[in-house]
Amino acid sequence: MSADGREVSDHPSLVRLSMFAAGWWISVVGGLVLVGYALLQTVPALPEADAAFWVIAGLLLLFEFSPVIIGSGYDSQGVATSDAFTFAILYLYGPWPAIALISCATLVSELVKRKPPWKVPYNIGQFALSLGSAALVMELWLRASGDVTPTLAAPLAGLQPVDLTWMVVGWLTFFVVNNTLFSMLADPGRTFADDFFDDFAYYFFTTMAVLAVAPIVVFVSAQPAFMPLLLLPLYAVRKTASISREKEHQALHDSLTGLPNRKMILAELAARLDVARRQNTKVGFCLLDLDRFKEVNDTLGHQVGDRLLAVVAQRIQGALRPDDIVARLGGDEYAILLDPVQSPDSAVEVAHRVRQALTRPFHVEGMLFELEASVGVAVYPVHGEDVDPLVRRADVAMYLAKEERTGVEIYVADRDRNSASRLALLGGLRHALQNGELQVHFQPKVSLGTGDVVGVEALVRWHHPQRGLVMPDEFIPMAEHSGLMAPLTEHVIDEALAQVARWRMAGLEIPVAVNVSMRDLNGRDLLGVVAGALEKHDLPASLLVLELTERVLTRNSGDVNTTLNALRRLGVAASLDDFGTGYSSMVLLKKLPIAEIKIDRSFVSRLTADPSDVTIVRSIVELAHGLGMTAVAEGVESEQVWDLLQGLGCDAAQGWYVSRPLDADDATAWLLQHPSQQRSLRVLRGGAEGAGGPV
Ligand code: C2E
Ligand code: MG
Ligand code: MG
Repeated sequence: MSADGREVSDHPSLVRLSMFAAGWWISVVGGLVLVGYALLQTVPALPEADAAFWVIAGLLLLFEFSPVIIGSGYDSQGVATSDAFTFAILYLYGPWPAIALISCATLVSELVKRKPPWKVPYNIGQFALSLGSAALVMELWLRASGDVTPTLAAPLAGLQPVDLTWMVVGWLTFFVVNNTLFSMLADPGRTFADDFFDDFAYYFFTTMAVLAVAPIVVFVSAQPAFMPLLLLPLYAVRKTASISREKEHQALHDSLTGLPNRKMILAELAARLDVARRQNTKVGFCLLDLDRFKEVNDTLGHQVGDRLLAVVAQRIQGALRPDDIVARLGGDEYAILLDPVQSPDSAVEVAHRVRQALTRPFHVEGMLFELEASVGVAVYPVHGEDVDPLVRRADVAMYLAKEERTGVEIYVADRDRNSASRLALLGGLRHALQNGELQVHFQPKVSLGTGDVVGVEALVRWHHPQRGLVMPDEFIPMAEHSGLMAPLTEHVIDEALAQVARWRMAGLEIPVAVNVSMRDLNGRDLLGVVAGALEKHDLPASLLVLELTERVLTRNSGDVNTTLNALRRLGVAASLDDFGTGYSSMVLLKKLPIAEIKIDRSFVSRLTADPSDVTIVRSIVELAHGLGMTAVAEGVESEQVWDLLQGLGCDAAQGWYVSRPLDADDATAWLLQHPSQQRSLRVLRGGAEGAGGPV
């Protein structure tokens, strides 16, 4: 045998395909020949049938139309309660009436139930062959013991205890043949054993429970009036089975949407990965999270929220192929299993289609909702070989889609903040906060008109014991996803205000701007933290500014508005950072209490090179002034840019041309050297020169 794993794994699928073909031909051709013969034998003899035959046949038909007992397996087959009567007819009147009757009953019921026509001959054939094999056991026994096979004209005289032996052997044969033919024809991607043993115990015992009623039917047939009593045990078997199925269904489904739940989709994913491994196919797994669902829930209540979630579920399902599976994982999170999927690109395409389907407005309880969703995609085997890594990576991609507001992202290892080194860094961040490894640097902001220092921006730095200096771009996004953002912001506010208080004691009145993240504004305690820190350092609120990125505007979150208004009442101003990189809504810009706009350095740095950036910066400055805000340019690196900004009417500048971010000591020295501070210090100290002494 080849050592090459691929060859070995390809082999079974070939075997499986021939098995599929064999199963089909045996069932259809073999079965139908048997049925044809049975009909020829039975129909002419029907006038000789006794009353009991017609009663049993009637019950058989009745039960054939009642629901089949279905298993929970991969591709469920079922156990029909009518089998009890089929077997009773076999015992009483021999194989041909039994096969003929059940075939006609199956034909009628399958057509009524609108089963796919190509399945009907196969189902009939499969059952005829299984029943035929049980009949063969009976025939062999009867012959061996010198008895004759019963017929319609000469039914079985009576049962002896010893007859139970061949009956039980017959049941087992029936079960094995039936299950074998079924498993041969199930999904060729699964092995024969997968299907044969799927839910084995369940099918075995329900089949035996139903078949065990058959000899009782035989006994009762002598007194057909007692026949209805049999309905009770058969009903009980079905009821018990359906209750246990119901419980299982509940455990595996979400009650709100009726969709599979987390447990089920993960099990399904594991099963599909098994198949994909054998067939060398790809499987897509997507996680979808609604972007503003919390607002709906908070403002309109859970009832409306629940309705909306159910409608969302339908929309998602409507955008997929029937074979794809949607699950609700809880909250406003859904998962989609795409199996098989051609390529990662086509998985992304499906994700876009689903997302698109959710952008149409929703009508729920007479209201109109607009929702957005973020979808993360991971594909087997490209992004992971097993359930856990695939799910985790779809999750990482989903967060990225949310963060970047791109809607759909596929997993890219380079952007995975949870990769091993990132996780190590995250662990370190917790200690860093406690061990004082986080330090705040300050970068001055200077007026373009007067050259005066109008404030400083606090920028956090991490002095990592092994890695050295780690910049905020590397650990802030990580903190945002880990619950460390709040303590980090609190730490920076405290450090920054402590320094402002020191400067103030030394006669320097410098406002400090602290960056806050989306997480801070959604959380409720930012206000308390700010108020507490101002009080602790005994500072007026006017010495603190909070910088928030433009992204907060695009999320029309009620929380953000409330927090900002409360901060403004306290006297703390808000500044809009990195302006021009997001998609602000002008309406929100007008509504939110914002005092300052910081023009993103990507526009500022290109000012001298690209005339269109001049237009952009000029427009932002005008917009800011029109709304009564000041405009600050970030990333001013040269005198040329400085001059240009002056000409555009921009209020203040920040950047390397003025000063790099400096640690507290250097910042203090810089401020003391700065002409504007020298002026105000002279005023303050009645003309005393410079400012010595510790600050
Ligand atoms: P930001 O708020 O836009 O800060 C300005 C960034 O531009 C700083 O990067 C600063 O060092 C850099 N910079 C300043 N002048 C120039 C220049 O002339 N040229 C160039 N190329 N860059 C310049 P830094 O310190 O790496 O911070 C990056 C971002 O991290 C900040 O962007 C801010 O959004 C975030 N951040 C920094 N500290 C904190 C913090 O304490 N809390 C939060 N939530 N975010 C922070
Ligand atoms: Mg900033
Ligand atoms: Mg900025």
